[in-house]
Amino acid sequence: MTSHVMNTYGRLPFALSHGRGCRVWDTEGRQYLDGLGGIAVNTLGHAHPKLVPALQDQIGKMIHCSNYYAAPMQEALAAKLCELSGLDAVFFCSTGLEANEGALKIARKFGHDRGIDRPEIIVYEKAFHGRSIATLSATGNPKVQAGFGPLVEGFVRLPLNDLDAVREVARSNPNVVAIFLETIQGEGGINPTRIDILRGLRQICDEQNWLLMLDEVQCGIGRTGKWFAHQWAGIKPDVMPLAKGLGSGVPIGAIVAGPRAKDVLQPGNHGTTFGGNPLAMRAGIETLRIMEEDGLMPNAAAMGERIRAGIIEGMTGVNGLKEIRGQGLMIGIELDRPCNELLLKAAQAGLLISVTADSVIRLLPPLILSAAEADELVGILVPLLRDFLAAPKA
Ligand SMILES: *Cc1c(COP(=O)(O)O)cnc(C)c1O
Repeated sequence: MTSHVMNTYGRLPFALSHGRGCRVWDTEGRQYLDGLGGIAVNTLGHAHPKLVPALQDQIGKMIHCSNYYAAPMQEALAAKLCELSGLDAVFFCSTGLEANEGALKIARKFGHDRGIDRPEIIVYEKAFHGRSIATLSATGNPKVQAGFGPLVEGFVRLPLNDLDAVREVARSNPNVVAIFLETIQGEGGINPTRIDILRGLRQICDEQNWLLMLDEVQCGIGRTGKWFAHQWAGIKPDVMPLAKGLGSGVPIGAIVAGPRAKDVLQPGNHGTTFGGNPLAMRAGIETLRIMEEDGLMPNAAAMGERIRAGIIEGMTGVNGLKEIRGQGLMIGIELDRPCNELLLKAAQAGLLISVTADSVIRLLPPLILSAAEADELVGILVPLLRDFLAAPKA
């Protein structure tokens, strides 16, 4: 059959039709445990009994108006995000790349406002920030960039977790205005920035009057067991792009900014048609409310620990498991070989997972995951991994 959908994804050969909680069903009626959460999007799982009626109510009132009008729901969600982050102001958009694109604009204008005509931004190896021309230029993956040159200039790329490299740039490059990184790299293989490094980056940004911009599109919104992953280091960024999990599946993005960044964009500098629409705002407001009401952050921390412990126990004595990384329900299991074939094998065993950076199994289940579901996930994954690693390396 000819497909009229552009061929941009390697898709598995089944279609999901509906879900409930952490379980989804395909069009043939087969059932899966959702260990992927729509890539960290389905914070509340599927068809959440508190979210569904709220969204139905909102759709019945208004889905979209325009940013021409006062926006009380934007005010409400922005106030909540500021309360949770300790930051001061929010711009709403619809996706992660847009939030990052806006953050890059803030950094450049911050530089221009300080008289730096060619502002540069420190970015990282293995980073992923999106697929627009600017965000793919900031991304540190040659596969994402191949074929799309010329890339946007003004980025200085460094290895992750290396403060000396940042200090060297601070000494030698007067055009730098910001450091931009994922608190925990997602697509790059679940690579955490160390807590001491985050604190060091905060200090350097303060000394240099640079913006610390933390891309929490994937690791934010409670997934690590705190609202935002950088809160484990007790620091605050100047700019924090959010998206994925904030709307539990309704497209939403946000740029959250602190005192040094919140007034950089002025009327006419930035905008979007869909950003901040009532449906997306309601989804964000209800997601955060339900997360608090149902204690989903402590749950994410506890279930993450449970899965990690289960995998470590189940894999004792097995060669080929290199490292388990991440925090809470953002888990990367690095193997000693490429493991893309596990996507289909896991699905056939009733579990949805992701594989990223070729050899890292990535788990990003909904934050409502129960202990029984965590055990079920481990119970499916461990035998799969044992079988896979027992075979000779290809
Ligand atoms: C997914 C992701 C993005 C891009 O988000 P889109 O909504 O796909 O544009 C950016 N940064 C990080 C860290 C991501 O995980």
